[in-house]
Amino acid sequence: MMQKRNDKQIMRDFWLRQGRQFIAIAVTLFLVLLLAVIYKRPDLFGEYSKNTLFATQLVVISAFIGFTAFNWRCPSCKKYLGKDINKRVCRHCRTRLR
Ligand SMILES: [Zn+2]
Repeated sequence: MMQKRNDKQIMRDFWLRQGRQFIAIAVTLFLVLLLAVIYKRPDLFGEYSKNTLFATQLVVISAFIGFTAFNWRCPSCKKYLGKDINKRVCRHCRTRLR
């Protein structure tokens, strides 16, 4: 059985996960946009082949998905929280998150 934690710890854990998730989204968007700009402006950043940039995009997106699968989980039941980043209640265990 999982150790039962109090509401305050769960809310704090969720708050940290949410913060990490926002950072991950920001970093991912930044890198995806940066790669698009590098592709569009070879005069500024040098020539990279389309395949190299495409592969890099895939790595960035895979890393984001991997991070989300690890981070974006309910602090109480550890199940995936779904698309809504401003969740109030876990839909699996009904724990209040914030
Ligand atoms: Zn839960």
